[in-house]
Amino acid sequence: MEEKIPQKSEIKRACINCGSELLYAPGTTELKCEYCSHTETIFPSENSFEELELKPYLSEMGGQSHSEEITMLHCKNCGANQHVEEHYKSLHCIYCSMPLIVEETYKEEWIVPGAVLPFQIDQKKAHEVFKKWVNGLWFAPNKLKKATLDPQNTKGLYSPYWTFDAQLFANYSGQRGEYYYVTKTVGSGKNRRTVTERKTRWYPASGTINGFVDDTLTKASKQKMGLIPKKIAYWNLKLLQPFDSSYLSGFVTEKYTITLKSGHLEAQKGAYEIATRWAKRDIGGDTQRVSSLDMNLSEETFKHILLPVYISAYTFKEKRYNFFVNGQTGKLAGQRPYSFWKIFFFVLFIIVIIALLFLLTNS
Ligand SMILES: [Zn+2]
Ligand SMILES: [Zn+2]
Repeated sequence: MEEKIPQKSEIKRACINCGSELLYAPGTTELKCEYCSHTETIFPSENSFEELELKPYLSEMGGQSHSEEITMLHCKNCGANQHVEEHYKSLHCIYCSMPLIVEETYKEEWIVPGAVLPFQIDQKKAHEVFKKWVNGLWFAPNKLKKATLDPQNTKGLYSPYWTFDAQLFANYSGQRGEYYYVTKTVGSGKNRRTVTERKTRWYPASGTINGFVDDTLTKASKQKMGLIPKKIAYWNLKLLQPFDSSYLSGFVTEKYTITLKSGHLEAQKGAYEIATRWAKRDIGGDTQRVSSLDMNLSEETFKHILLPVYISAYTFKEKRYNFFVNGQTGKLAGQRPYSFWKIFFFVLFIIVIIALLFLLTNS
């Protein structure tokens, strides 16, 4: 008989005083009750990070041992896959703010995350960051300013990523360049002068490099609207915690839509770039060329990890806009709309001023 193991991803803790669901309090290792303020400590898991061996997963996609079913809701408008929690009363898609229908939840398998980076700043703080930024925007439509006043528009999301570790070994061949300088005379007559010109002498180079490639991060979400701007997509992965569903309580979690296989291909490209860098360092000299590189990765492991970001989504003139605040660092990025009328009147105002000045100086 197969034993029924509790679903790691959906374990919930209730408040011992009032029975409400306990929510993770950002920046702490505590769960807190919204109603009576009772807190409970999240004890660090006994087992450290689970690095999973890559090969078995890629060959028999799924490797049931580390996957389980979770409750999902699919957004028909933008295609986002979000893991929802029972206590959400009114649900809106985190990316496009379209209402989601609770009755349409379904169960889906996912590879249990190996680690999670808990939110460090809370929703209130993230909302403040948005508000401050929007209020400081010139020529932003008033409707945008109003939309940001609603804290409901700022939601915390655990965004999915894959990380890969591997032992890298490569043979390379290329050339080492050494600089030398020549002086020569250019121009004629008055313009005659000597200049120094840099030239490169190339020598053949080849060798082997090896080392450990740690935590190559690749995104696991296909969401175009949810593409976290590069500017803020940096997290300190040293603060990752072994996965515990307590950290997800009160937040939306997105299920990966980029498969492990595609993520792995992306990571291989990243590893190739690392190998090229290592080869160049190995070649030395002033400049380097790598003409061939034969890379081999072994002992590959991976983790499915969740990283924190706040998203503020709203629609303006049928165009969707998202603002992002990194849930760990508080850094903000986002696209913004411009108000046509504000710019129009501003330009008009300038023209009037110039015309008045012109009239005054000519009278
Ligand atoms: Zn309580
Ligand atoms: Zn959506």
